[in-house]
Amino acid sequence: MPLKLISILPLILLFQWNSLSAQSLSKYEFSEVHMGTLFSIVLYADSAEAAKQASDRAFSRVEEINQVFSDYVEDSELSQISQYAFYKEMKVSDEMWALLSLSDKFYRASNGAFNIAMGPLTKLWRRAIRRQEMPQESDIKEALARSNWSDVSLDKSKQTIRLKKEKMRLDMGGIAKGYAIDEAYQTVKQLGIPRALVDGGGDIFAGEPPPNSKGWKVMVKLNGKTQDIYLTNEAVASSGSTYRFIEHNDVMYSHIIDPRNGYGITNPNRINARAPNCVLADAAATALSVMTVEEDIKSLEESFEVSLIK
Ligand code: AMP
Ligand code: MG
Repeated sequence: MPLKLISILPLILLFQWNSLSAQSLSKYEFSEVHMGTLFSIVLYADSAEAAKQASDRAFSRVEEINQVFSDYVEDSELSQISQYAFYKEMKVSDEMWALLSLSDKFYRASNGAFNIAMGPLTKLWRRAIRRQEMPQESDIKEALARSNWSDVSLDKSKQTIRLKKEKMRLDMGGIAKGYAIDEAYQTVKQLGIPRALVDGGGDIFAGEPPPNSKGWKVMVKLNGKTQDIYLTNEAVASSGSTYRFIEHNDVMYSHIIDPRNGYGITNPNRINARAPNCVLADAAATALSVMTVEEDIKSLEESFEVSLIK
């Protein structure tokens, strides 16, 4: 056999094997409510049992993450930090440390627009939106004083956290869902199902593409119009005030807070961010909803390989 043919033969065989194994895959879809939103997993597997088992494991992983990072769950690790880290230095879990460190990087790269120490303010605005009652200015000022990331001290060598002011409160609502989506995908991938997409209320991680396709087709809404994008091993997340806001004197205040003044942002646009994984896309979308200075936006995009979909 000529040498050239011998060297390409394994490639041909590999290609045929790949397309043959892709042909035996079927599409499955599962949905469950987690983290206050609908999670859906679409995957290509070779049996219904394998698909169901993988998605069950992925949903359990999402719930596990919720129990660590939710500020609605009273005994979550995050709530425990908010309750006790003023009184004593607290050692945190590896995954909590990873998200705290990433949040710190986002705070810096976004010039303070992304701030997980704004728990007192997000709580105030959440209640305002629920009751449709505008918060008092004095309450906003008081909550703002307890919402400084500079009052959070992290010790890398000991993996500990300490809150410097009383009644501070951390809120990872702008980043934890993206992490849960990434972890759900990793769960199904580790079970041998890489052709999968995880959607958590519109934030998406798409893995290896469906058989014989160039990627996962995802529809994003942009300035009232829709646009199709194709994703492979990539994420997209969106933020904005479409559903949760309070209207006061013809101005809409969102559940996303501007750390400079403690008010909900009033920009009605939805922001879509694209990134190599969903934790980055999620944090970036929240940060970019608040950011207005073009240079800051550029620097955030460069720091994290994220991009604003325009
Ligand atoms: P998302 O839908 O991902 O943009 O997340 C919005 C959630 O992030 C809010 O409900 C708050 O819990 C939290 N949040 C609000 N404003 C900010 C902010 N400026 N930085 C970080 N997290 C925020
Ligand atoms: Mg977000």
